[in-house]
Amino acid sequence: MYTLWDPLGRTGEAYNGPSSPVRGGCMICPACRTRIPDGYISCLTCAQQRSDEALAAAQLEPLRQVLAGKEPLTIRAIKGRRHIQMFGAWLTFCGEATDPDQRKTFHDWGVDDTGNLCRQCLSRLVEAMRKAAPDSEQLIEAGIKA
Ligand SMILES: [Zn+2]
Ligand SMILES: [Zn+2]
Repeated sequence: MYTLWDPLGRTGEAYNGPSSPVRGGCMICPACRTRIPDGYISCLTCAQQRSDEALAAAQLEPLRQVLAGKEPLTIRAIKGRRHIQMFGAWLTFCGEATDPDQRKTFHDWGVDDTGNLCRQCLSRLVEAMRKAAPDSEQLIEAGIKA
């Protein structure tokens, strides 16, 4: 739930009403105050931020499973580099788009070497793992194998 600025002054509950028209007819996002492009009814910046946050949150439970050895990471070969696919999205941790046609392999954390993985994917993965399992630093470190 996201609490947005509310023209009637209500607070607390998420407000999903229309954005407020301003002078000149252009729309300003009630949450971040940036201008909403013509033809759109909501703010792209906020929509992107909400989906980024939702995607980040969706990694937490699967990453706990990865650390527990119950679930592998999905690796996608893109232009000769091996990237780590995010859970529930056709995106790698470093932000590359992926799709079912790209060659897929699996990586067992703590078993397989990380030395041949995309460095940016790996560093974002480790960052996400630390958020998912702050008490599992040893398991996280044990999986980083060059
Ligand atoms: Zn906004
Ligand atoms: Zn990558």
